This record gives sequence, structure tokens and C-alpha cells, in this order.
Amino acid sequence: MPATERLYYNDSHLIEFEARVVETSERVSGWTAVTLDRTAFYPTGGGQPSDTGTLNGLRVVECIDDEDNGVLHVIQGRPPEIGATVKGRVDWLRRLDHMQQHTGQHILSQAFVTLFNAPTKGFRVLDVCCEIDVELMNPSKEVIERGVELANNVIWEDRLITIRNVSSQEAADLPLRKEPSREGDLRVIEIEGFDLTPCGGTHAFRTGEVGMIAVRSWERAKGLTRIEFVAGMRALADYRRANHTAREVASLFSCGRDDAPGLASRMVDENKELHRRVRSLEEIASRVEAEELLTEVPPNSDGIRVVTKILDDRNAESLKHLAQALIAHPQTIALLGARDQDAARLVFARSADAPGDMNALMKEACALLDGRGGGKPDMAQGGGKNVEKLPEAIDVAVRSLSKD
Ligand SMILES: [Zn+2]
Repeated sequence: MPATERLYYNDSHLIEFEARVVETSERVSGWTAVTLDRTAFYPTGGGQPSDTGTLNGLRVVECIDDEDNGVLHVIQGRPPEIGATVKGRVDWLRRLDHMQQHTGQHILSQAFVTLFNAPTKGFRVLDVCCEIDVELMNPSKEVIERGVELANNVIWEDRLITIRNVSSQEAADLPLRKEPSREGDLRVIEIEGFDLTPCGGTHAFRTGEVGMIAVRSWERAKGLTRIEFVAGMRALADYRRANHTAREVASLFSCGRDDAPGLASRMVDENKELHRRVRSLEEIASRVEAEELLTEVPPNSDGIRVVTKILDDRNAESLKHLAQALIAHPQTIALLGARDQDAARLVFARSADAPGDMNALMKEACALLDGRGGGKPDMAQGGGKNVEKLPEAIDVAVRSLSKD
């Protein structure tokens, strides 16, 4: 069976075509693969995703490169008869998007070779952005942006992009950016005066069609630099998202978009300072609260004051502060509990001259709360999810203490 004639090789802007059905076959998915004598559909390959579109109005969801057997068009619906002539239509915006990303990659990759002798080792068109893996040893914001700037200059010079079909001998004399991945005759993509690369993808006619390239982020990955970029329509979409985000943040500060980072950074500093102040005020408040609690509790027959208290909306740290303030007084035992959102918290503590093993008391109490806890003989913390049992847990601790 003759391989499919690939119309996209010679004309990346051809989106409507007629072809004859050569073969149809059932796919595992229950859909049908249609093979044509010729096609303008680009199948998945070379880092570029498949085209989509229609065949006689039926949806083409994916195209697969079956090498010698040609291009398989996976369609939904009843397949056309073998031998029938069908009208194909490629989704133009998707094709244009892929051409912009793919041609953009040729340009950006060559920019890093030109500037830093750093070849590209991998390329992927993802849903939202694209990635290239570049042999760039010392990446920095300046280095990356120099590459981006050169690439955009090449785009705005609107250079001609042509396809040269050459033999392997001719190719050997050409300054190709990368080694051909196949033997025999080669399809070389030439960006006028800038780049020469063997490639089977679809490319813009002129660099201007790529529009612009922007780098979103980059990171070191496996000895290479992974650069996340967007070209053409994706660059505009990405700008819109980034602008929206920046403006949303700015509106929280009631400031202009570009002033937001400065204000946000100031707010983070202020927040740290406020946390510090809250902590020191909490310590003072704990001391006052401890004094008040102690006046309510008379010493028992052994001269020990056992303070029990359940507080609302206290976190573990605040509870611990209060316990520490209490046991700063002699002959004092603090058995404190708190309802902290959906959890019960406990802190048991005693002054050095008071009796009792807080660790043992805590373990017993936490079993009731369906939780865990422990610590030292003079200070233990714990908690559990059974908030209703909090009063009972403290009662058990009081009873265990009086048994000693
Ligand atoms: Zn290419």
C-alpha cells in the first residue's frame, strides 16, 4: 500500500483538501482509523501534537503516524467507503498555534546556540506552554532574557522560512543545528540567515507569524536548563492571565498593578512583626490570666493548687503559655484543655515542687479523646478528635492525681 502523500510537507497553510479513502480499520476505542491517499493533517510527532479537524464533516480527533502505512485519521462516527472521495478540513487555529510554538522553538533554540553555544536536547508542546531542555550551564535571568530578546528580534525582522529537500551528502556540508534523526534524504527548515535544522513538522512561512516569544520560568533539570516558554497566541493568552492575576492582587492593596509587589512585600514584613508582638502580648496576658485563675483555686490539704480549666478557641501554643505562667508559681498543677476548631487539646504541667507524673496522666487522658500525647513528668501535651470527652478527660486526670 502506498504511503500517504503528506500535503503539509509542502504547504503548512493548506487546511482544505480532497482525498481518496484507501483503508479503514477499527480502533480499540471503538472509533475508526481512516487512511487517505493524501492528507493535510499533521500526525503527532517530533514534539508537535496532532492536528484535529473534519473528514466529510466527521470529527477527526487525532492523527497517528503509522510510518510506512501512512497517516491514520481517527474519526468519530460511521467511516466513509473505501475508494470514496472525502473533503478534509484541518482546525486552523490549532494548527496555527502549533506552528507558532514549533517555529518559535526553532528560533529560541538557535538563539541559545548563537549566544551561548548551548544546544537544545528536548522539546515538548504542552497544553498551556512549551518546554525546551537546553545545555545551558550557568542560567540566570539575564542569560535567559538575552536569548528571548534575540529570538524576538528574529521574529520581528520577519525573515523568510523555506524548506530545502537535500540528500544526505548535501546535508553533510550544511551547518545544521542538530544531527538528523534519520538517514537518507532530508527535509531541512531554513530560517533566512539564522537557522538550518532537519525537521518534519509544520512551520510558519515567515518568522513574523510567530508573533512573539515569552519565557514564563526556567529551572535546572538533570544537568540541563528546562525553559518554559509560550509563543504567538499563547503568549497573548499568558499575558492576559498574568495581567489579570497582577491586577487582582493590586486591587487587594488598592494600588496600581506594578506597585503590588512592593506593597505585598511590606505587608509580609509587617505580618511577621505583628506575629512577634502578638506572641509577647500573649505571654503577658497568660501571666495575668494565671494570676486570676489561681485566686479562684484554694490549696488542697497538701498545700497544692490544682487548676483545671477548659478554654475555647485556643491553640496548643497559647495553652502552653498559660500552663507555663501557672507553674511559675510554687506548688501548682495545671490541667488545661481547649477546643481548637474540631480538635481537643490538652496541656498538663506542674511546678518543680508539686507531685504527679504529667506524662502518665496525659496518656490516660488522650486515650479517652481518641488521640495521642505525652511528654515529661512535669510537662506533657496531647489532644484528640473526641472534643465532647474533654471535661471527662480532665476529670480522670484530677482523680488519678488524688490517688497518688
Ligand atoms: Zn520544525
